[in-house]
Amino acid sequence: MAEVVEAPPKGLEIYAPQRRRTPLRVTGPRAEALAKLGISSVQDLLQHYPRYHVDRTQLRTIRELRKLAGGGHTGEVTVHAKVVTMGRSVAMRAKTESGKTRTMIKASIGDETGQIGVTWFNQSWVARALSPGDVAFFYGRIGVFGGKLQMTAPRFELVRTGREPFNVGRVIPIYPASADIKSDALRRLMWDTFEAAGEIMDPLPSDLRLRLGYMSRGDAIRSIHFPDDKEDVIKARRRIVFDEVFSLQLGLVYRKKRLERTVQGISHPASAPDALPERFIDALPFDLTSAQRRACDEVATDMTKAYPMHRLVEGEVGSGKTVVALYACLMAIAGGSQSALMAPTEVLAEQHFLTVKELLDRAFGEHEGANLFAGTSNRPVVRLLTGSTPASQRDEILMGVSAGEVDLLIGTHALIQGSVDFARLGVAVVDEQHRFGVHQRKSLRDKGTMGEPDILVMTATPIPRTLAVTIYGDLDVSILDELPAGRKPITTSLAFGDEHRADAYDAIRKEVASGHQAFIVYALRDESSKTELRSAKAEAKRLATDVFQDLSVGLVHGDMKSQDKEAAMSAFRGGTTHVLVATTVVEVGVDVPNATVMLIEDAERFGLAQLHQLRGRIGRGGHASLCILATDLDPGGAEESTALALERLNAVASTTDGFELATVDLRQRGEGQLFGARQSGMPQLKLARVLEHQDVIKQARDLAVQILTEDPDLAAFEHIALRREMRDRFADVALDVIQSG
Ligand code: ADP
Ligand code: MG
Repeated sequence: MAEVVEAPPKGLEIYAPQRRRTPLRVTGPRAEALAKLGISSVQDLLQHYPRYHVDRTQLRTIRELRKLAGGGHTGEVTVHAKVVTMGRSVAMRAKTESGKTRTMIKASIGDETGQIGVTWFNQSWVARALSPGDVAFFYGRIGVFGGKLQMTAPRFELVRTGREPFNVGRVIPIYPASADIKSDALRRLMWDTFEAAGEIMDPLPSDLRLRLGYMSRGDAIRSIHFPDDKEDVIKARRRIVFDEVFSLQLGLVYRKKRLERTVQGISHPASAPDALPERFIDALPFDLTSAQRRACDEVATDMTKAYPMHRLVEGEVGSGKTVVALYACLMAIAGGSQSALMAPTEVLAEQHFLTVKELLDRAFGEHEGANLFAGTSNRPVVRLLTGSTPASQRDEILMGVSAGEVDLLIGTHALIQGSVDFARLGVAVVDEQHRFGVHQRKSLRDKGTMGEPDILVMTATPIPRTLAVTIYGDLDVSILDELPAGRKPITTSLAFGDEHRADAYDAIRKEVASGHQAFIVYALRDESSKTELRSAKAEAKRLATDVFQDLSVGLVHGDMKSQDKEAAMSAFRGGTTHVLVATTVVEVGVDVPNATVMLIEDAERFGLAQLHQLRGRIGRGGHASLCILATDLDPGGAEESTALALERLNAVASTTDGFELATVDLRQRGEGQLFGARQSGMPQLKLARVLEHQDVIKQARDLAVQILTEDPDLAAFEHIALRREMRDRFADVALDVIQSG
């Protein structure tokens, strides 16, 4: 790209990287207090946004206060009044919990419409600050005590001639503060800092800004801290939210477009009706859902293009993502390249291998490779590689892979080890991608030799599309929002304590009697002296001897030898085992349609997404299914952690909609975690909330696409500041790509 002449943009850069920030001229204890709030520069301070604002624009008369109190008003009010009487600070008989003496001051204030009593507790200094005759603005809550209207612990600002009141008569921001530095102090500092900061750089070209109807960035920063009215605050927030997500989207879209332009991918031939992928679909024992069909078409379109596919398939548990994955693999194979399917656990990899074998048998017969039929009739060669594949087999597989004889390699992260050497990798599928790190995904991509392979990542942790675009903005998204027809509903109930547990056992017994199977899942594998929690190993023994003597009880957990794990799973799959006791190894992907009941013990120990995933192991056949979440929590527990856990369990019990649950999860855990999980160095969002601001995110996304389509390198004069900001905010994440621009 041509050298761009860059004059540094004028004004203070709010999103400048740490090293280019303007230090705050504050020293001593105040600097320390600020540092604890994460504030050390002018930029930090200006981005220390208020938690909320209180409206003190409206002055009340005392008579109005009486009416308000009568009407049940509980918010803050402001009055302009004169101190009539001022009591002394007196000790109260009742002491504080820590044994200190409490003090109280009583006073009365009045205006031309009346008088009210005012009380302060433990604020002796007030007695020195106010004297009868002083005029001040008082703001605080009102209430009726002993039949009398009273203001409790109001804050106040004395009226001095010649000075405008600072904290009243306005909409006042309330800041996240600490014991060492209070909101009001932050507000004063904010004002001085803002005044001294001068002009604030706005990277958005002003014609564009006006078209979008946003205030300038400088006005937004001023208005969030010093609004004229409530309307001002709303406008300011919108602009700041837009800024936060816009440079993020710009960076993500930039990176994506740049990859598309510069990275050499593989252009797979379009799938013909008689080619492998379509024959495979035709031979399935069911019809694709329309969501599956759409996803397959999107995959096919991506794969014929000359740049690598980066697509995320998001789907509800049981929505049939595997079929889409296989479609991609077969498309690559049909075009003469190899494919890889990576799963997070051996159990899942093994199961994929079995499924694929069975489906391919149906579609292409049981004979592998070049044999009876010529050309396209050949059944693809599929191999399984995991950490516990015996050495002799492993060597043979690796040779087949590097010779290009293995068409589809299924496995765990064993696939990304150095010794695995594909002759011509065309597509790599990562199942349950949230279980892998970014680096593992990248390692798989690096296995390509003919150009970057196409990448398809799949996740059953569904999140709303706007959120997906925010977090995975460099990926295209296909959503499977439809379950295959004929699925019977899963009923979920909560079980508290032993009595309910006995009912759960009865339910399991009943299901088994009618020919079905059950999972019982535990949070722990082994007993632990530290907790009261049940463990899979101990419970498997107890259940087999004391509860289900007449049934066959199996056990599977992560620490078992791989052969034993396989044996346990295949006994369950085959129906020999009635009740499978398990840890979360069965969380992802396990597909045994005959299992119709799941009991999850100590359910409060699991995360929301995890419970949803676990429950997804049942209800996969045509039978109504039952999920029981057992817990020893007190159903009326008021402690915060208990209440949150109960909320989680109730949410899972009330819906099977993964998108809805993802939203609850997001609310409970906060959005920060999602970004943290995604990539460190992602620009921080302070005001933007992905759920709340979906419209702004979409606008930012669309605008980023539009601008970068017209000006791919942001080289136009009016885009220089945008480009600089995007680079600053993405410095850690995409140094290689963006800084080399
Ligand atoms: P997930 O999206 O959770 O990975 P799977 O791909 O494991 O789901 O599919 C779940 C089950 O649904 C499997 O038994 C699969 O064979 C079956 N299935 C997939 N697609 C369909 C369909 N269109 N109609 C009926 N059953 C389907
Ligand atoms: Mg799956």
